Amino acid sequence: MEAFEWQQARSPAEAAALITHTTAEAMLTLQARPTVQQAILVKAGGVDLLDLMKEGLVIPRRLVDISQLAELEGISAGDDGGLRIGALTTLAQIAEHPGLRQSHAALAQAAATAASPQIRNRATLGGNLLQRPRCWYFRSAAHHCLRKGGGHCFAYAGDNRYHAVFANHGCAIVHPSTPATALLAFHARVELLHPQGHRHLLPLEDFFVLPEADLHRENNLAAGEILTAVLLPSLAPPTHSVYLHIAEKAAFDWPLADVAVVLDLDGEDYCRHASIVLGAAAPIPWRAMQAEAVLTGVKISEETARAAGQAAVAGATPLDHNTYKLPLFTTLVRRAVLLAAGLDQNSALP
Ligand SMILES: Cc1cc2nc3c(=O)[nH]c(=O)nc-3n(C[C@H](O)[C@H](O)[C@H](O)COP(=O)(O)OP(=O)(O)OC[C@H]3O[C@@H](n4cnc5c(N)ncnc54)[C@H](O)[C@@H]3O)c2cc1C
Ligand code: SF4
Repeated sequence: MEAFEWQQARSPAEAAALITHTTAEAMLTLQARPTVQQAILVKAGGVDLLDLMKEGLVIPRRLVDISQLAELEGISAGDDGGLRIGALTTLAQIAEHPGLRQSHAALAQAAATAASPQIRNRATLGGNLLQRPRCWYFRSAAHHCLRKGGGHCFAYAGDNRYHAVFANHGCAIVHPSTPATALLAFHARVELLHPQGHRHLLPLEDFFVLPEADLHRENNLAAGEILTAVLLPSLAPPTHSVYLHIAEKAAFDWPLADVAVVLDLDGEDYCRHASIVLGAAAPIPWRAMQAEAVLTGVKISEETARAAGQAAVAGATPLDHNTYKLPLFTTLVRRAVLLAAGLDQNSALP
C-alpha cells in the first residue's frame, strides 16, 4: 500500500468540505493504474476502503476519518414516527437493536447475516451501502475493466457464476450490500450532507444507479457529499417482514441469492401491499415487481407464495454460469412470503 496522509474530521461539515472525490471517481484507471492520485477520500470503518488501497485499486493522497463523529452514530426515533439510523451505526448494532428487531425485522436479520462478527462490529451502515462491487475482475488490478474506465467486461465470457441475472447488460455486477436489500423493501431514504452545508433526502431507490445510466458508479453520491443517516418509515403494527439468504458458507460470505419481503396484511392474511426485493440479483437491489403484483389483494397461502416465487424471476437474463440462481430466488421468495405471513413456523430464521 502506498503512503497516505491522515486527517481526523471534527464534524461532518468539515469532512464534506475536505473531500475532493468519491472513491468511484478516484478508481477510474488508465491501464491498470488509478488516474486520480491526489484524491482526498472519506473513511468510515475502513473495511472496504483499506482493502481497495491494499490492492492498489485506489491511491488517495489523504483519508479523512469520520469514524469518531458521535453525531453520526446510533438508532433513534425519526421525525415521522419511523427510525433514524446514523451512518456510523455498525451492522452489529443494527442486528442487535431490540426495537428495530421488532419493527423492521428483515433489516436486523440482513445485518446479522452479513460478513463475520468481527466485520459487523467494524462495518458502518454508510460504508456498507457505499462499498464497491465484489466482481473479481473489478477487484483485480490486472483487469482494466469497463467499470474502472477500461474497454472490456471480462465477466461476460469469463467466470460469471456470482454475477447478475437481471439488468446485466454493459456490466453484470451484483450490488454488494446485504442490508440494502432489506432497506429497499422498507422504502428507506438516505440523508446526504452537501459540501455547501445543506442536507437532502433521497429515496434509496433513486440513490442506486444501473450500468445503463452510468457504468462507473453504483450510486448518486456526489464528490464531497457525506451520507449522514438512513431513515426508515414507520410501519403499522403488526409488521410482517423477513430476510432470507443462501450463501456457499454459513459465515464470512456474501449471499449467492437473498430476498427481503415486507407484507401489509389485514387480519385475515389478505395482502394489501407486498414489497419484495432480491439481492445478489442485479447491479442494484432488485424490486421483484411482478411478484409483488401477484400477492396484492390475495390471501397469502402456499399456492400464492409459490406463484410469487415464480413471478420473481420473470424477465431474468442469466449468463453462462449463473442460471442456478433462478431456482434459489424462486424458493427464497416462496419461503420468505410464508414466513412473513406466519404460515411457515418450521423454517429456521437467521
Ligand atoms: C470477508 C468479508 C465478507 C463480507 N461479507 C459481506 C456481506 O455478506 N454483506 C455485506 O453487505 N457486506 C459484506 N462485506 C463488506 C463489508 O460489510 C463492507 O466492506 C463494510 O460494511 C464497509 O463499511 P465501512 O464502514 O468499513 O466503510 P469504509 O471502508 O470506510 O468505506 C466504504 C466506502 O464508502 C465511503 N464512505 C463511508 N462512509 C461514508 C459516508 N458516511 N459518507 C460518504 N462516503 C462514505 C468511503 O469513501 C468508501 O468508498 C464483507 C467484507 C469482508 C471483508
Ligand atoms: S461485470 Fe462489471 S465490474 Fe465485472 S468485469 Fe464486467 S464491467 Fe467489470
